[in-house]
Amino acid sequence: MIPGARLILLGRQGAGKGTQCVRLSRHFVVPHISTGDMLRAAVREGTDLGRMAKKIMDDGGLVGDEIMIGLVRERLSHHDARGRGYILDGFPRTVFQAQVLDELTAEQPIDLVLDLDVPRELVLARLSARRVCRDCGTNYVAVGYEKLPWICEVCDSDVMHRDDDTPEAIEHRLDLRRGRHAGGCVPAAGCRRRHHTSVKTSPGLPNFVAANTLDAVAATTLVEAGLG
Ligand SMILES: [Zn+2]
Repeated sequence: MIPGARLILLGRQGAGKGTQCVRLSRHFVVPHISTGDMLRAAVREGTDLGRMAKKIMDDGGLVGDEIMIGLVRERLSHHDARGRGYILDGFPRTVFQAQVLDELTAEQPIDLVLDLDVPRELVLARLSARRVCRDCGTNYVAVGYEKLPWICEVCDSDVMHRDDDTPEAIEHRLDLRRGRHAGGCVPAAGCRRRHHTSVKTSPGLPNFVAANTLDAVAATTLVEAGLG
């Protein structure tokens, strides 16, 4: 029988986190819990939290700790997460969120925090080449000889270069993130008690990254079982 796992995946934008989350989720047969996806679903379904979040986003604000924690708390209480575990993606983002997560997981602690470490130049290249559909949000990668106008294969709308995907804007975001996430681990306070490892990523090698990630998880499990 495949053991479950309770994992947190960290990594800057463009680190390939989404791909790894899907792979890990299949490997361990646990749900991929993405706060971004949950937030969008809550807004779409018009739940109380979703309505609160929508109002904040419509006013141009950032959704705060209270709402994010509410979403995660509710999701972690579900049967699948309590039973086999989960892969948490996009949470915790702040020290406070990490502290609350510590309390929420006191009985079933996180097995491993994985930090996808991707070179800055690679993130820059990936994000500069990113194009996105104006209407449905499908992502594309520009290789330099696309026919223009570029039409979305999913919904026939226009595929655009986002204003904030210019090299300058990306550099700025990376700097902001580095400032906020001193030490590589965002929620440093909350990570202290957990196993924490950094997985190197390489351009265009998602399989290699996945293998390293699984090795890291296996190593932790062995250590916990007193075999490592
Ligand atoms: Zn589209």
